[in-house]
Amino acid sequence: MLKAGIVGLPNVGKSTLFNALVANAQAQAANFPFCTIEPNIGTVAVPDERLQLLSDLSQSKETIPAQVKFVDIAGLVKGASRGEGLGNKFLANIREVDAIVHVVRCFDDSNVIHISGQVNPIDDIEVTNLELALSDLAQIERRRERLKKQLRTNSASEVEDKILARVAESLEQEKPARSVTLNEEELLLVKPLGLLTLKPIIYALNLSEDDLTRGNSYISLVEELAVREGSQTIRISAQVEAELIELSSAERIAYLNSIGVKEGGLKNLIQATYHLLGLRTYFTTGEKETRAWTFQAGMTAPQAAGIIHTDFERGFIRAQTIGYQKLLDAGSLSEARNKGWLRSEGKEYTVADGDVMEFLFNT
Ligand code: GDP
Repeated sequence: MLKAGIVGLPNVGKSTLFNALVANAQAQAANFPFCTIEPNIGTVAVPDERLQLLSDLSQSKETIPAQVKFVDIAGLVKGASRGEGLGNKFLANIREVDAIVHVVRCFDDSNVIHISGQVNPIDDIEVTNLELALSDLAQIERRRERLKKQLRTNSASEVEDKILARVAESLEQEKPARSVTLNEEELLLVKPLGLLTLKPIIYALNLSEDDLTRGNSYISLVEELAVREGSQTIRISAQVEAELIELSSAERIAYLNSIGVKEGGLKNLIQATYHLLGLRTYFTTGEKETRAWTFQAGMTAPQAAGIIHTDFERGFIRAQTIGYQKLLDAGSLSEARNKGWLRSEGKEYTVADGDVMEFLFNT
């Protein structure tokens, strides 16, 4: 299962946010007993309103959500790329995740010490990104050193070397590897290096309760930086999330009303992270169960079928398909069938998010 790492400087609210995610998952664990929790790794259900609607429609006995993994990665300090503090461990942990949720402190609170003495989210982002970039540069240097020996005899090495030189140049200008335009072949050459700044990133702006609705001056600075980088941002208050998980559902509504927001931010964070990982959902639905299945954006119908069972992919014939909204409009699968709304899709079909599918296959 793909994983997102929660990354940031010490004391920005990473653990508070991670614990809220996990506690929320544990609260749901009564319904979804397969949600396992390990230290620092939380497998959480992906909130999706469509799932319950489909389950109600089919009167399913079971409703099974998609899941995504979050890893709480220890705080980074300056000098991590030189192996200072827990630097090497930190970088190794990031190397293992598929996307980064970078928590940025955008709240003032004199009781919570800031590692550099004052709250400055842009500085914090630059410190973190510099460490990641330095680690990537070292990685590229090592690879190019190895390629050097083969350059004269191997033209493939020359191609790779040129691409890596381009990525290095960008990193030296403080631009992450993900900002370099690479075609599919080039990307295949760069990927094995596991560059940290190639991983997709979302900045989670950790706000105080009051600033969730009224905003503050830090927010626009970070949002502008993210636009320049082509990254996403989301606003969240780790502290509010930590409080919400302590409350009953009636108390939650009252509390959310009192601070002027409709719902907590975890749902948004989980959904945004799921998308950031390139993940999408299709559904299967029937009396026994309604289930959300995770696939990678761009997968064909046989590949998506293979997620349920490899036999489904191997013996794939076709998929009876309908968009979830269309199915809800029809009122039931049999009604949709009567109306001729079920499409028969073949091997070339690219599955869309929200498709409800039934696979026909040879055994
Ligand atoms: P980490 O080192 O990044 O994991 O940070 P923690 O989650 O341990 O949080 C550090 C301190 O900041 C703790 O005392 C938290 O209670 C506090 N904290 C976290 N989020 C917020 C927030 O949104 N507002 C305020 N005022 N304090 C927060």
